[in-house]
Amino acid sequence: MTAQPTVLILGAGPSGMAAGMELYKKNISFEFVEKNNQVGGLARTMEFGGFKTDIGPHRFFSKNQYLYTFIEELLGEKWILVNRFTRFYANGKLFKYPNDIMEVLTKFGPINLIRAVTDYGFEKARSKIAPRKMNSFEDYAIANFGKTLAEVNMINYTEKVWGIPCKDISVDWAQQRIKGLGLTAILKKALLKSKDVKTLVDQFYYPDEGTGLIYEAIKKKVEKTNTFHLESVPTAVHHENNKIVSVDIKTKDKTKTFAPEHLLTSIPMTEFVKLMSPAPPRDVLEAASRLRYRSQVYLFITINKPSVSPDQWIYFPPKEIPFGRIAEMNNFSKKMSPPGKTSLMIEFFCWEGDEIWNASKEKLLQDTVFWLNKLGFLSMNEVENAYLHRQTNVYPVYNIGYEKNLDVVKNYLNQFTNLEYIGRPGRFRYTNQDHSLEMGILAARSIIEKKDYDLDKVGSENEYFEKGTIGKQNVY
Ligand SMILES: Cc1cc2nc3c(=O)[nH]c(=O)nc-3n(C[C@H](O)[C@H](O)[C@H](O)COP(=O)(O)OP(=O)(O)OC[C@H]3O[C@@H](n4cnc5c(N)ncnc54)[C@H](O)[C@@H]3O)c2cc1C
Repeated sequence: MTAQPTVLILGAGPSGMAAGMELYKKNISFEFVEKNNQVGGLARTMEFGGFKTDIGPHRFFSKNQYLYTFIEELLGEKWILVNRFTRFYANGKLFKYPNDIMEVLTKFGPINLIRAVTDYGFEKARSKIAPRKMNSFEDYAIANFGKTLAEVNMINYTEKVWGIPCKDISVDWAQQRIKGLGLTAILKKALLKSKDVKTLVDQFYYPDEGTGLIYEAIKKKVEKTNTFHLESVPTAVHHENNKIVSVDIKTKDKTKTFAPEHLLTSIPMTEFVKLMSPAPPRDVLEAASRLRYRSQVYLFITINKPSVSPDQWIYFPPKEIPFGRIAEMNNFSKKMSPPGKTSLMIEFFCWEGDEIWNASKEKLLQDTVFWLNKLGFLSMNEVENAYLHRQTNVYPVYNIGYEKNLDVVKNYLNQFTNLEYIGRPGRFRYTNQDHSLEMGILAARSIIEKKDYDLDKVGSENEYFEKGTIGKQNVY
């Protein structure tokens, strides 16, 4: 058998790449097995005819200074600070996001405003007399914002993203997304300018040629001594006595077997368990089959004018609008488009195989331009080109009861002493880049230091993830 890497890493997204970088710093050998033809996973940057785009808007935000230093060392001056400007669409108008309460009060219209205030007052009174049971995301959003504002601001958009009613979405999602961010807090901030109220960041860091630059920079550094098998997939993971003993992989032109000391996987957990040989017990496979990921279709349009809007991205919650968000890559960095031109990345949320998933590029383009034209953003004769990209395993779905299924799968995987499962698809956790990077770093440290870091603690501060200041604490 040829020389074996100490660690085999499945999936070269942010979590896998961070693990690779950390291992590289300690001269521990590794090889990557990655399905795509480039690294970066959901945070890769793609190129279409001289234009660059991320897969949807990618704002980097973390409270962990270690991560900023980690990236700065890789990118230097290419790591730029961007002033955030983002809005959402409601009732035919655009509103600043995060919310500017004064703007909402003035633009919302008197009837909606009366309804919003009454609903909110009702919820506040109810919380004193008979508090709502917090069974779902819907309960949580209504209790904190009142029905009218919750619908405009959260419920409609959340249902678009997840494809299930908010009453079926676990309260976990609210804990992660909006804990500590009720209407009272927003009002307090606007009216009293209170310092102790959680703030939403208005600046973020960005690599000047797309977020994928971070992962391309890691690849460039580590590939001198470590191998990347791109367009390759694992086909079987063999185990004995609670240890992974070997992994079969299929590359573009051959098959290969590795016998690494450690296996790190960031490929979808639901796919990973199916590769195990001998196969997992039936209850594990059944639990895994109940865990679902939401997919997305992206329409990338290149545009023959310098600008569409000042926003990095705009949310579109109303259900009659088929897409959920648009992002203008030029407003992240001017290097994303050729001079004098711009582009838009349009996100459609869907299930793999449904009507949107199967929709043609022409249909999605027509629908998109119809709505953007209404807003005065774009007409069809300004569109230079359109490209379609379909992506599976984008959002792990936190439906009510998902935790039980997840626990069954995790208990099974936890028995393997030389296995770490990390990242958004690999751990079935809705992580952003920061928490995926942290998981990768900690998984590598577990190997380097022969110490068990608890990856479930990453990001478990359970507070609204937009709060706070950039990189205050050095977590490691
Ligand atoms: C629309 C959108 C907007 C986002 N916005 C932000 C943002 O503003 N800020 C932010 O920080 N984050 C954002 N994110 C999240 C960010 O992209 C993810 O957190 C990050 O990419 C997760 O990294 P990961 O390594 O955990 O998983 P992934 O990026 O999913 O990486 C997993 C890797 O495994 C590979 N793989 C899968 N199956 C196999 C297989 N069978 N064999 C081999 N390889 C396989 C995949 O190709 C991929 O490269 C956004 C994501 C999306 C989709």
